[in-house]
Amino acid sequence: MNTIQLYRVGMAKSDRENPPTLKSRYSEFKDELQELVEDKNVDELIDVIHTLGRLVHYVTGSHIISYLAWPTVKKHAMRYKDHGCIRSKRNCKAHCKHD
Ligand SMILES: [Zn+2]
Repeated sequence: MNTIQLYRVGMAKSDRENPPTLKSRYSEFKDELQELVEDKNVDELIDVIHTLGRLVHYVTGSHIISYLAWPTVKKHAMRYKDHGCIRSKRNCKAHCKHD
């Protein structure tokens, strides 16, 4: 699978096993926006674009905005390939439920 395929499959698995809500997507976006305000750098900006992309995906089913945050897409795809979850091993252990 290429990066986009890994990302799509990994995100679908994550959404299925740990279903998001509009509220949870919005609060993730607000949290990242706050981090960008506190620490203005490119990495934080990319995270903001990605959480906006997740919000847009929730509403429209399209990953189009998320792909603009390509480094984050790649990071999630590689994690999925590596250990079957788009989250870091630490956050997976702390927050995920998996079938
Ligand atoms: Zn996980």
